[in-house]
Amino acid sequence: MKDLCGREINYMRISITDRCNLRCQYCMPDGIELCPMKDLLTYEEIVSVCQEAVSLGIHKFKITGGEPLVRRGCADLIRMIYEIPGTEEVTLTTNGVLLEKYLPELWNAGLRSVNISLDTLDQKVYTEITGFPMLDQVLQSLKAAMKMGMHVKTNTILQRGRNESSWKELLILAKDIPVDVRFLELMPIGEGKEGETISNTTLFQKIKEIYPDIKPDERKHGNGPAIYYKIPGFEGSIGFISAIHGVFCDSCNRLRMTSTGELKPCLCYDETISVRDVARCGDSEKIRENIKHAIQIKPKKHCFSEIEKVSEKKKMAQIGG
Ligand code: SAM
Ligand code: SF4
Repeated sequence: MKDLCGREINYMRISITDRCNLRCQYCMPDGIELCPMKDLLTYEEIVSVCQEAVSLGIHKFKITGGEPLVRRGCADLIRMIYEIPGTEEVTLTTNGVLLEKYLPELWNAGLRSVNISLDTLDQKVYTEITGFPMLDQVLQSLKAAMKMGMHVKTNTILQRGRNESSWKELLILAKDIPVDVRFLELMPIGEGKEGETISNTTLFQKIKEIYPDIKPDERKHGNGPAIYYKIPGFEGSIGFISAIHGVFCDSCNRLRMTSTGELKPCLCYDETISVRDVARCGDSEKIRENIKHAIQIKPKKHCFSEIEKVSEKKKMAQIGG
């Protein structure tokens, strides 16, 4: 279905929990006030929303959180969404800590593509950023996922004064294995307001100084706004997601749903349309109407450059990044 700006909305990011086993300093360094479990959509309710979403032309889903793998049965949900006729793809965004453990069931559920958040390859810096010494476990998960045949993308946020040079070592990951190494600009959402992002324009110039032959990679890599490049001789690609310095709202194709069933048309604003009650009473017509409504009120663009206009006050883990 098209929104009022003519954008085709065909992708939904679904948060299944606000809980997490890490405490990233740009997301929820001191934790959050957790929503009561009874307010979370059950997997059956999430599937009922996905069924209506598919009927409106949303065929691709990303499971996120909080940390989606801390909610029991995440693989079951992926399988259930794949069973909806018309679902084309279900992918997962994770911090990677529990990924190795759940890989076999995720694979059996149909998962073939996973995003792993990885801000550095330095143990000390990783622990400073996430609050836990889990780097080795995350790297083990990454290798295990590659070995199993998953398409793996890493997500890195570079922040001044914290991990601003970690891109050098992260790029090398893509040299020998076909992993997409991606750099995201920090958005002024929640704790993200406190940090200073490194612009992807600046980063690209630095990369080009070392790898002058870096070239655009025209192949399609996914459903999002990442722009990909290839360094000759590298197995993987390098991606840039430039929410701040490369506004991509014109081609935004997504809707978000929080773990409590709030449909969120844009990350920047606090406006949501709830589908929880209508999903709870099994009213598929109402679910459809509410999805349509959320698509219709999707703003033309975000306002991250005018921070005082950002009305979203929640932290990323409560929204679903
Ligand atoms: N726990 C999972 C993970 O870390 O991948 C999934 C949820 S997390 C909120 C999803 C993504 O959002 C992560 O890649 C994280 O780096 C990113 N993120 C968190 N806060 C952000 C912010 N303020 N701006 C941009 N990205 C952010
Ligand atoms: Fe957890 Fe992901 Fe937020 Fe880090 S970014 S605290 S891993 S939800």
